Amino acid sequence: MNASVRRAIVIGGSLAGLFAGLLLRRQFAVDIYERADAELAGRGAGIVTHELLGEALDAAGIGWRQGLGVEVETRRFFDRDGRLKLEYPYRQTLTAWDRLYDMLRRAFPAAHYRGGKELVAVEEYAGSVAARFADGSVAEGDVLIGADGLRSTVRAQFLPDATPIYAGYVAWRALVPEQAIAPDLHAQVFDHLSFCLPPGEQILGYPVAGPDNELRPGGRRYNLVWYRPADEIELKRLLTDEGGTLHALSIPPPLVSRTVIADMREAAETVLAAQFRDLIRLVDRPILQAIYDLESPRMAFGRVALIGDAAFVARPHVGAGVVKAAQDALALMRALESTDDIAAALKAMEAAQVPFGRRIVARARALGASLQPRQATAEERANAARFRAAEATLRETATLEFLQ
Ligand SMILES: Cc1cc2nc3c(=O)[nH]c(=O)nc-3n(C[C@H](O)[C@H](O)[C@H](O)COP(=O)(O)OP(=O)(O)OC[C@H]3O[C@@H](n4cnc5c(N)ncnc54)[C@H](O)[C@@H]3O)c2cc1C
Repeated sequence: MNASVRRAIVIGGSLAGLFAGLLLRRQFAVDIYERADAELAGRGAGIVTHELLGEALDAAGIGWRQGLGVEVETRRFFDRDGRLKLEYPYRQTLTAWDRLYDMLRRAFPAAHYRGGKELVAVEEYAGSVAARFADGSVAEGDVLIGADGLRSTVRAQFLPDATPIYAGYVAWRALVPEQAIAPDLHAQVFDHLSFCLPPGEQILGYPVAGPDNELRPGGRRYNLVWYRPADEIELKRLLTDEGGTLHALSIPPPLVSRTVIADMREAAETVLAAQFRDLIRLVDRPILQAIYDLESPRMAFGRVALIGDAAFVARPHVGAGVVKAAQDALALMRALESTDDIAAALKAMEAAQVPFGRRIVARARALGASLQPRQATAEERANAARFRAAEATLRETATLEFLQ
């Protein structure tokens, strides 16, 4: 390797890490280090997209215009008796996590994506930074990007007090194959972003690409997200697996206990509009995710930066986690292009992205206030009242107009 080539170390090989890896390749020799040693595909479900995502995909050289996902033009609200009560026109592209992951992963050189590498510590030197891994190996570089998600090891080292705060509710997520949906139900929900708002809860659904990124009718999937309140005691029950082990923060999908899944299915029969009840009956492998807020006061520490969910996690109601990760990576690339002083560049990225992250987290908190078991402040009570109304929820969920 040419001694003058600068090296970037990216920790975490999911969406934020891949965006950073692709965007920094113009200036650095980049290696991505991912803890998992198998492909990450199949991890996530549907992803709502926004125009801002296109900017980062273009910069990363990804040809996405031939089909990022499935287009919808309307949002629908069904009351608990299954009556279509509201329709709101809103054009949006809906994709799937594995489709985005696949596009980014294929664009990044395989030889520089290193699986089975778990970061345990970051070491800082006068003119460099090093990553120490659980297998005893060390990688040295000029800059280190922590894109290691909600439970970030990089953040734990540099910001030990910045920890995720449980929002008081969980999300059940699932994908239903298009072909399994009966024609009458398909006609009512499939081509729309559809909502039902039982008291204190919310379920929404939208079409996404099928397995193997299929976008043709018949081969797609319908993505469901059902938010349900759960106090701290109930959360512990939900995160305890069949063998009695309590998982911290989140539980791997195959380990969710049979009783917990059976309870969810039973609740669907009584709580949801018929359309969603019928869709839940078609669900094979539901994913359970506890919902957290996370805000980092800083994103830059000398030659080390945090991006994506490692820095800020917003509740999913803005549908902006991927856009935020992509915009963090873009800001990083631009800042590093503008100066050779790495610490100064990372500080410049931080100055732009901390306020951006805070705004998205605050907005998501407002949209989710009505789903919390308790509203502690007057502001939370006002937001809860506002977003209990179907019209506000239809108009404002998963939109980024508030950023303008
Ligand atoms: C219910 C729900 C719905 C959502 N819906 C949307 C949506 O519609 N639109 C949207 O944009 N976003 C959505 N999101 C958010 C979105 O999925 C995330 O914001 C986005 O994927 C951020 O990715 P990331 O790469 O920062 O983190 P992650 O995807 O968490 O990746 C972190 C990676 O780092 C690796 N890692 C962790 N620790 C280490 C270590 N010590 N060493 C090496 N590697 C490590 C992990 O294995 C992982 O691969 C949703 C989230 C939830 C929970």
